[in-house]
Amino acid sequence: MVTITIDDRDYQAQEGTSVLEAARSNDIPLPTLCYHPSLRPSGSCRLCAVEVPGRSSGRAVTMLACVLKVKSGLVVKTRGDAVNRARTRAFRNLLQMAPQAQNIIALAESYDIDPGPPSDGCVRCRLCVRVCKEIVGPAALKMEKRDGMNYVVPIEGLCIGCGTCANICPTDVIFVEDQDNVRIISIRNEVIGRHPLERCEGCGKQYATPKFLNHIHKRTSSHTEVKAHHNYCPTCAKLFSDRIKTFDDRTQR
Ligand code: SF4
Repeated sequence: MVTITIDDRDYQAQEGTSVLEAARSNDIPLPTLCYHPSLRPSGSCRLCAVEVPGRSSGRAVTMLACVLKVKSGLVVKTRGDAVNRARTRAFRNLLQMAPQAQNIIALAESYDIDPGPPSDGCVRCRLCVRVCKEIVGPAALKMEKRDGMNYVVPIEGLCIGCGTCANICPTDVIFVEDQDNVRIISIRNEVIGRHPLERCEGCGKQYATPKFLNHIHKRTSSHTEVKAHHNYCPTCAKLFSDRIKTFDDRTQR
């Protein structure tokens, strides 16, 4: 047997056992999901972090109690700021992967850990932010830290309603909804842009926003062969360009 100190109290522990086993056999609670007494510990859930004094600097570090073996004179803490930070990180990582797992949320709350906001389905690839700024131009999206997490958020008034961000999103969390002559672009029920829709000069279908059409007209103003296409919905524009092509073919014969 060896003597170890947990939360300022001395305990006897069997040599070769882990800190997690020693804590549990003395009714000291530590959260864990990946521990099983019949299996070798893997440390994969990272919930059982405990604080130990650092070797050289004396600064406290956290280690996983399931893989940390007891040894004579070992001092650990199962509570405190460092442990809380490590646990919060571990719980939030787990809930990113399994946001539906109510048992993980309940376990976090039983240790006074804020499980954080529910997953919004966004993988933070920033494709939407980049395409809006680098290709489309308005730079209507940005990353913003809220409650310790980075979110894609709109910059008010800049969206032109093109829908490119929604098309490029790999997880389909940006929505384009055309209803009653209005286009709404949104993420997490947060409106990125709300725009009236213009009618196609060919078929009368409502198809694009005035801001988008202005933007495209400016971008294509020096290209006479393409600028008129944007007055038409994609179907009519295709017919229109086919007619020009046929006309050009005939005049060249
Ligand atoms: S719909 Fe708005 S936010 Fe999305 S790419 Fe177009 S301008 Fe940017």
